Amino acid sequence: MFDEQSDFENRMVAPDYAPSDNETEPGLRPRTLQEYIGQSKAKENLAIYMEAAKARGESLDHVLLHGPPGLGKTTLAGIIANEMGVNLRITSGPAIEKQGDLAALLTNLSEGDVLFIDEIHRLSRTVEEILYPAMEEHAVDIIIGKGPSARSIRLELPHFTLIGATTRSGQLAAPLRDRFGVILRLELYSPEELAQIVRRSAGILGIEIDDEGALEIASRSRGTPRIANRLLRRVRDVAQVLHGGAITLPVARAALDRFEIDELGLDDFDRRMMRTMIRNYGGGPVGLETLAASLGEEAVTLEDVVEPYLMQLGFLSRTARGRVLTAAAYAHLGLTPPAVTTGEQQQFF
Ligand code: ADP
Repeated sequence: MFDEQSDFENRMVAPDYAPSDNETEPGLRPRTLQEYIGQSKAKENLAIYMEAAKARGESLDHVLLHGPPGLGKTTLAGIIANEMGVNLRITSGPAIEKQGDLAALLTNLSEGDVLFIDEIHRLSRTVEEILYPAMEEHAVDIIIGKGPSARSIRLELPHFTLIGATTRSGQLAAPLRDRFGVILRLELYSPEELAQIVRRSAGILGIEIDDEGALEIASRSRGTPRIANRLLRRVRDVAQVLHGGAITLPVARAALDRFEIDELGLDDFDRRMMRTMIRNYGGGPVGLETLAASLGEEAVTLEDVVEPYLMQLGFLSRTARGRVLTAAAYAHLGLTPPAVTTGEQQQFF
């Protein structure tokens, strides 16, 4: 059961990073665009922009990456730095508390470097103000001294590429958003793409797996490479201890059933949310805040982490009046949808 918040955070299918994911394992993160599986639209565009910038001998324009956690935003920033032949500096919105923190980071960059700011929507407005001249004019203005003797000096910066990552581009201040030349949206991956990622990771980690076993793990990974890699490691443990090592279809099934992750990748929390919507709100529409309160979760967590996948499955719709479960969600839970009562529901049942 997921009655405690900490349990929610420990979900095996949570897309957020957990230390046991060990993503620094050598070779696990793709280093080139060619190794980076899926996201063909974003990749094609990036390849063109990088080639053009290289041909002009310039740094790449600032890039904003948005999409749910675990889809490969940090990985893509590393690939850009690698392919442009420059250094990558990584930080995050919540880690930069004061203007001086960001100014120090910026003045330490070398020509062409990539500065990656994860969760860029969480930068404070005052820190953001430092970014504007840095992004546009390659300069930072620093105030020296206090009171009447305070004066502002301008420091020139090297040309650099800012890569911002966000799960919620809607929360980004318009002036910041407008300063990114390239805006790329990452999409949830298809099971076939994730199966490719699982097979690649298995090769690197020395795990024996067949194609059907890889596809089974992929199908239950919620369109998210981070979850696919995590499930691969956990299924390996079960395969090793109970089934003699190799991951085949029956082994993957048995392991994932043991973790209570169903054939679509839904876990106890997803099922609890859907059942709460049915039991307490007749399947919706129900407001996000109300639903979050019933589940003892934060609305932003539901919105960023739980809903995108349920929507991709066609189980949940966001409407002007709130969240609505679809007939497909009822069917998945083995229930019959209610008779049509409102115009809003008509389109789904
Ligand atoms: P984000 O920054 O969006 O949260 P990461 O870049 O940290 O996600 O990726 C999470 C994990 O998934 C990493 O271990 C990475 O190796 C893997 N991964 C992400 N995207 C891909 C991809 N397209 N191909 C292969 N592995 C990927």
